[in-house]
Amino acid sequence: MPYEHKPYLLILIAPSGGGKSTLCDEILKRYSDFVYSISSTTRQARGDERDGVDYQFLAEAEFLKRQKAGAFIESALVHGKWYGTSREFIGQQLAAGKNIILDIDVQGALKILASGIECVTVFLLPPSQAVLRERLERRGTDDREAIELRMQNAADEIALIHRFDYLVINDALESAVGDLEKIIRAEKLRVERYKEIRENYYRSENA
Ligand code: 5GP
Repeated sequence: MPYEHKPYLLILIAPSGGGKSTLCDEILKRYSDFVYSISSTTRQARGDERDGVDYQFLAEAEFLKRQKAGAFIESALVHGKWYGTSREFIGQQLAAGKNIILDIDVQGALKILASGIECVTVFLLPPSQAVLRERLERRGTDDREAIELRMQNAADEIALIHRFDYLVINDALESAVGDLEKIIRAEKLRVERYKEIRENYYRSENA
């Protein structure tokens, strides 16, 4: 009888442009027990983003209606647009025993921490401010004003870094993925993540 684990939320927090989505994809490819939480947002889709895959894109009135109805476990205004995490999806996946990766901002992460839901928080930091700026410029999806807003938000987010569990420097993709894998492995070994340790232990004797 294998020892089973209790599922948890793996929250990745990073200034936008930090390359979080590539990292999420790598983790999802490697771990079949992880699913991705698709957020809802009122911002416009960028480039090749797809509705229902990258985000659920909603008109503001619809987002606010759902927010009022309690559809989000957390929601926040980021760069002037609304973002929220679906309560229904999180509940269903945890009940199905899946771990969930969330790509959300600092405010959202702090709200989930305060809610008492089982979670592990990882801050992904670009190697430097200059690298973050370069990434945002290279992405070519934001105008100058939007880039300045993202840089300012990054500074505000980094100021709260001590509230989170882990720090991964997001320099080369491979090493950041390697660090995340180590975190996932270590988290799996935490006593509190196991279900029914004693039952399993004694059962093996009587089987
Ligand atoms: P972007 O518009 O660049 O995709 O994301 C902007 C910021 O919003 C990023 O920091 C991203 O992590 C954050 N974000 C995405 N989804 C959510 C969500 O559901 N809740 C919160 N609080 N932040 C989110």
